[in-house]
Amino acid sequence: MPILKIVTIPNPILRQKTKEINLKEISSREFKGLVSSMIKTMIVTDGVGLAAPQIGRGIRLAVINSKDGAFPIINPKIIKKSWARELDQEGCLSIPGVFGKVKRSKKITVAYYNQAGEKKRRSVQGLMARVMQHEIDHLDGILFIDKAVEIEDSNSKNQNEK
Ligand SMILES: [Zn+2]
Repeated sequence: MPILKIVTIPNPILRQKTKEINLKEISSREFKGLVSSMIKTMIVTDGVGLAAPQIGRGIRLAVINSKDGAFPIINPKIIKKSWARELDQEGCLSIPGVFGKVKRSKKITVAYYNQAGEKKRRSVQGLMARVMQHEIDHLDGILFIDKAVEIEDSNSKNQNEK
């Protein structure tokens, strides 16, 4: 499977709301190939998650790298969010060189379809919860820089020096 090119800002696809995936498509060879390529791309680029808009596809699909292995989340939806939130550092393959702190729910429950087209529900916390919220935001055209504080941009360090 090929490594996919990562789309970076200001590409407008990163700002579009993505389309629900028709579950009949999941079993197609094309879709399976896309998921494998996204997983490979995520691993090669050292990412913890990768959303379809980041490879130029406006569909509700992301891949997540967990310690138990990488898996796709298809048509994911956050169905529960903890009131407790925490602030931590994030970056994004589509916004190279930029980091910032984002407040996210500590625990969430996500409903999604897996590669077999089965409905799944997973409760996650900590880094996994953060990654899932970041990736699902991508599917709604939201980037972490929209929510981040203390943004550090290594691309513009020189200009900012006073
Ligand atoms: Zn991202």
